[in-house]
Amino acid sequence: MLLSSKSISTIMTLGSHCALQVLKGAKDEGFKTLLVCERRRLGLYRRFRFIDKIVEVDNFLEILDENLQRKISSAGAVLVPHGTLVSQFTTDQIERISIPVFGNKWILRWEADRSLKEKLMIEAGLRLPEAIRAKSEIDGLCIVKLHGAAGGRGYFLAWNQESFEEGAKRLIEKKAIRDETDLYIQRFIKGVTVYLQYFYSPVSLSLDLTGIDRRYESDVDGLGRIPARQQLETGIQPSYNVIGNSPIVLRESLLDEVYKMGENFVSAAERLVPPGMLGPFCLEGVYDTDGRFTAFEFSARIVAGTNLYIDGSPYSSLQFDEPMSVGRRIAREVKIARRRSKIKKLLT
Ligand code: AMP
Repeated sequence: MLLSSKSISTIMTLGSHCALQVLKGAKDEGFKTLLVCERRRLGLYRRFRFIDKIVEVDNFLEILDENLQRKISSAGAVLVPHGTLVSQFTTDQIERISIPVFGNKWILRWEADRSLKEKLMIEAGLRLPEAIRAKSEIDGLCIVKLHGAAGGRGYFLAWNQESFEEGAKRLIEKKAIRDETDLYIQRFIKGVTVYLQYFYSPVSLSLDLTGIDRRYESDVDGLGRIPARQQLETGIQPSYNVIGNSPIVLRESLLDEVYKMGENFVSAAERLVPPGMLGPFCLEGVYDTDGRFTAFEFSARIVAGTNLYIDGSPYSSLQFDEPMSVGRRIAREVKIARRRSKIKKLLT
């Protein structure tokens, strides 16, 4: 891996998820920008002048080609990983990438693997929804998840063994799963879903809250538009496929705990997954009626909910006197690390 501070001149990412934000931020900070883009999406990304160079591929997996990686690395590029990398590449493939990756690529395995994920969240002292180990133990509203599912697709609700079996049968018929062992049952937490976006700087050893969003999921978030009678008579099953994001600000009295949860997560990651949680990450969960946060998930890299805040969020405005997206914050961190010869602290 190329790690010399001076040679890093380009920020690159895959054309999807939050690529526009990442490359706009990189350009604003004076970097050259490079996009790996699938040919079917060229029409979108060619619209933006802040993208200096596009490497065209039919499939993102083509970046695993060693010659291409060598070429990209020698151009002084740093790869910013995002949700598309995590969902379309296996963790082995991600770990084999030889282009320098912004942040800790080893922690992406902990995001993808449900038992490692739980271990890290418990180490961070987060409150988690109870995991239900067998369908016969379902005794209240539960959410049933697919292992490694991207973006909530295929999730369903169950409240007893029978409703679990019905949901599982539907997924087996659609060939979304092989059998019931592909499913994971978790207690459903009632309340307001919230996605807490953070940035940890390994250069200045400080944690920022960069923004907070909510995910708008289809079709569960649209169900309120259908009256109860029609819901009951048509047997609608909600799904949890993310369509977009909307902003939220929290009651100020909740913020102190938000920072503490982020700091605890950073120290837990430092202990379990060296070199720790570098750069952007997100804690995802539900605030219940008592204002208690239960975390059902984390993302150990930039999340698409940050796309809301290209001009900064209510929280980044408290830290910076200029518009500061997370994409720009990443580029700023590379710039600062480069200046202080600390680039090795940022890349894996
Ligand atoms: P996940 O793939 O874990 O991020 O979950 C996708 C979506 O399912 C979330 O954005 C929530 O809307 C919902 N969800 C996941 N876990 C729970 C839970 N334990 N209780 C309530 N809603 C949940």
